Amino acid sequence: MTSIVLFGPPGAGKGTQAARITESTGLPQVSTGDMLRAAVKNGTETGIAAKEYMDAGKLVPDSIIIELIRDRVQQPDAKNGLMFDGFPRTIPQAEALSTITEVTHVIAIEVPDGKIVERICGRFSCVSCGAVFHDIFNKTTVEGVCDQCGSTEFKRRADDNETTVLQRLGAYHEQTSPLANWYDEQGIFHRIDGDRDIDKITIDILQALS
Ligand code: ADP
Ligand code: AMP
Repeated sequence: MTSIVLFGPPGAGKGTQAARITESTGLPQVSTGDMLRAAVKNGTETGIAAKEYMDAGKLVPDSIIIELIRDRVQQPDAKNGLMFDGFPRTIPQAEALSTITEVTHVIAIEVPDGKIVERICGRFSCVSCGAVFHDIFNKTTVEGVCDQCGSTEFKRRADDNETTVLQRLGAYHEQTSPLANWYDEQGIFHRIDGDRDIDKITIDILQALS
């Protein structure tokens, strides 16, 4: 079992790129953010414990995240590996991951802080299939209709507001960015300029993975 990590600040485009490359990699996408939001919605013990951190834009404690991942890798579709999006976010999470699967590539999507707020505050997604769009940078082709599944219902995340984004960006710089060196020293860290056209980024990621 070998896995890939998509790394970068909130709003860098990890989810957008994951959806585009999952067919080529053959690895299912695992977003800890999506898993936590599902847990909150379903009112599970994990969801109840995670919600206050998520609402405040803080990282959820490592113990909760590591347990989520340990459960996820037991699923049959994980047998060949997974493509992680938004995980790991701390060195203890990365250490735990290294005992679970071999990480072959860490793809770091780099976007300057000054671009992050506008990226996140314009984000919306399809209620039915989860496809992610942006008010300005990644509009639906027909206004109000999902390009992927034709649904006309969209939602915005409660934590996609300017105040929480700044908190999340702070958590990224303090707790997550030290992982860049940790992975760089292992020779598996690939930096991709994420402040460009979505298609060009996909091409570079696929090249880094090949
Ligand atoms: P992440 O998963 O890293 O939090 P998303 O993939 O959800 O980020 O992207 C955040 C927002 O930015 C979304 O609204 C998305 O449509 C938009 N976006 C993604 N990639 C780009 C890009 N290269 N240029 C401009 N906007 C982008
Ligand atoms: P995301 O969907 O990746 O933007 O994550 C949304 C929120 O979920 C974050 O602000 C954190 O509160 C929490 N979260 C997601 N993944 C992790 C993780 N790997 N470690 C800690 N907290 C996480």
